[in-house]
Amino acid sequence: MIITLTENADLEGVRAALADLGLWTREFTGERGTNQFLVHAHSGRVERATLLALPGVADVSETPSQHPLVDALGPCVDVAGVAIGGDARPVLMAGPCSIESEEQIHTVARRLAELGATFLRGGAFKPRTSPYDFQGVGREALAWMRAAADAHGLRVVTEAMSESAMGAVAEMADLIQIGSRNMHSTPLLQAAGRTGRPVLVKRGMAATVEEWLAAGEYCLDAGASAVVFCERGIRSFDNRTRNLLDLASVALLRHVHQLPVIVDPSHGLGRRDLILPLSRAAMAAGASGLLVEVHPSPGTALSDGPQAVSFETAAALAAHLGTDRPAVLAGEP
Ligand code: PEP
Ligand code: MN
Repeated sequence: MIITLTENADLEGVRAALADLGLWTREFTGERGTNQFLVHAHSGRVERATLLALPGVADVSETPSQHPLVDALGPCVDVAGVAIGGDARPVLMAGPCSIESEEQIHTVARRLAELGATFLRGGAFKPRTSPYDFQGVGREALAWMRAAADAHGLRVVTEAMSESAMGAVAEMADLIQIGSRNMHSTPLLQAAGRTGRPVLVKRGMAATVEEWLAAGEYCLDAGASAVVFCERGIRSFDNRTRNLLDLASVALLRHVHQLPVIVDPSHGLGRRDLILPLSRAAMAAGASGLLVEVHPSPGTALSDGPQAVSFETAAALAAHLGTDRPAVLAGEP
């Protein structure tokens, strides 16, 4: 948005009035030497009429958003009958990094369902840094996961890494995950959108918030029924944690953009000992739920063992989210 000032406007007075309304501005000189303010995209939303009523403001023009469908999404979306975002009950999405065996995913599904998780997570296809690391079981694991989830009343969230496997993933998933490494892959985002399913868009590890929102726009534009954003940490200069879990972006999406956003503390931290306190911080910042790696025996996990938590920690997370209590059924007072 660009705000043009009147000829004799008190520049600092207008700047202060805009800041009071939650608008962050940068001053520049427009055509014909007029004083103007560019309102940064991360500012709050204020009615045009309110701005025009301020002394010193001559005109207000909207700059077109790069993500109109995301802007119109609203704070709460429906994912296979589960409300995510806004005032809805927080969601717990949990499970192993990789689906390792049929038995493993059934055990995890049973234990997590008892804890009140809503979604079972787990990768059949894994984006690994080294080609020599475990790459996931593949398509077979999708069916194991669907059956395990169905047996315990859970929804399925799982990652699609390629356009060729998108159909198979969409057939088994309630929520299609686009991973951090693929957030910039526009053909993959479009392929996920074309399935018509809801898409979980994880933030690219070096993506700006604007690029992240635009990735959501690709999915919605291609036909996704909904998008949920997931903050999973961005690269930083420090290596004591795997990533820098950016909770400012969570507050921004929730409170300024009013969008459904969840947090993955597992990939954000890379270590299990801090999952609980950072999850609390994530919820306080405005997250509508958590995506957490849980393993029956974290020490033997085939991928991301150091960040996997036990069922005991998962129970503590569920208690914090309030998901350890039975959900209020639709229609109940
Ligand atoms: C995952 O959720 O298993 C995963 C690989 O996450 P990310 O894309 O955030 O690294
Ligand atoms: Mn992982």
